[in-house]
Amino acid sequence: MEINLEQKFAEQYGVNPHAVYFTPGRVNLIGEHIDYNGGLVMPCAITLGTWLAISPNADGRHRLKSLNFEEQITVDGNLKHDKNGSLWVNYPIGIINELLQDGKQIPGMDFLFYGNIPIGSGLSSSASIEIATAFALNDYLNLGYDKLALVKMAKRVENDFIGLNSGIMDQFAVAFGEKDKAIVLDCETLKYKMVDVDLGNYVLAIINTNKPRELADSKYNERVAECQTALSLLNEEITLHNLCELTADKFALHSHLITDETILNRATHVIKENDRVHLAAKALNNGDLEEFGRLMYASHQSLKTLYEVSGKELDAVVDFCSTYGHVIGARMTGAGFGGCAIAILEKGFEEDFAKHLTDYYVDKIGYAAAIYISEIGNGAMKH
Ligand code: ADP
Ligand code: MG
Repeated sequence: MEINLEQKFAEQYGVNPHAVYFTPGRVNLIGEHIDYNGGLVMPCAITLGTWLAISPNADGRHRLKSLNFEEQITVDGNLKHDKNGSLWVNYPIGIINELLQDGKQIPGMDFLFYGNIPIGSGLSSSASIEIATAFALNDYLNLGYDKLALVKMAKRVENDFIGLNSGIMDQFAVAFGEKDKAIVLDCETLKYKMVDVDLGNYVLAIINTNKPRELADSKYNERVAECQTALSLLNEEITLHNLCELTADKFALHSHLITDETILNRATHVIKENDRVHLAAKALNNGDLEEFGRLMYASHQSLKTLYEVSGKELDAVVDFCSTYGHVIGARMTGAGFGGCAIAILEKGFEEDFAKHLTDYYVDKIGYAAAIYISEIGNGAMKH
């Protein structure tokens, strides 16, 4: 951590924190816009994340402060609270509400957050702050939840309190991640396997397009609705709970039910992307990174043309990667419409890549992207 959170906590609240916790952000290696369609995704935790220092206080109220934001909020301890506009405190407050709703008593606590995940860039700083809060309170107060219960709680906060109809992938990844492993997660059954990611002579580069975010949440909810439309049309002939129950072959037998081209494209992306995750897991197990990289490019192409969630910024990054000699795979990651891309970059070319990508990107887009080299790290933990 590049700042001394204990010291900042003491400056803020006049006492030392009793405990400090860390929860990472995540990237999804492949399997995009799949989680809410009940298919397979392949996220991993990264080494950027959110730290949370906590201490109980004497006045029975919660005091919440983040070093990333101006507003500090004080709320009554054992009362549920309404959503407060789009303030950052909604995320921890949402978790506290869930705990109260579940009958837990929470003594007044002081909270200090700090995150180094670029916020609102698709690396799941929101899941990170949710799980950081839930994990810390559960551990410190011995509330007795298992990790999966915390993941489901954080998803409810994101869906019902914040209002984003996202699937379970983000919360799952930042809670369950393990160093140098990807999680192959079935979003319908929540069964998962950890797969070794041996990058060998390559590193994981994360490229933030720095595109100002607009309309991303409403476009996201629109895609969720389009998939539901496809599902109900298919259900006229077969019984399906979600699109990812279909293989591409089986889908071809029933796709005539979808006459709207846009809806057909959305469903086609989902079903083929789900197949690609199976292939990508096989490629990793076989140590075939080149095949993995090809699947990443194919995923991006599908997200760009069929699912229409990319954009000129993400496309510029991936176009550059595909012509730069030392990248074997690249794609947008997360919901899209801006946010981040990832690339599998040959070791030793980090600086050269950053320089040439920056020149290319500034020329095309007019401002710079930010480039991080990340390791695959561990999930939520006591620091
Ligand atoms: P993403 O999850 O892609 O980073 P979101 O819009 O889903 O973007 O979540 C970002 C929001 O999460 C921020 O606007 C803020 O409200 C909250 N948040 C994330 N990290 C922090 C932090 N370190 N401190 C306070 N709030 C945070
Ligand atoms: Mg988010």
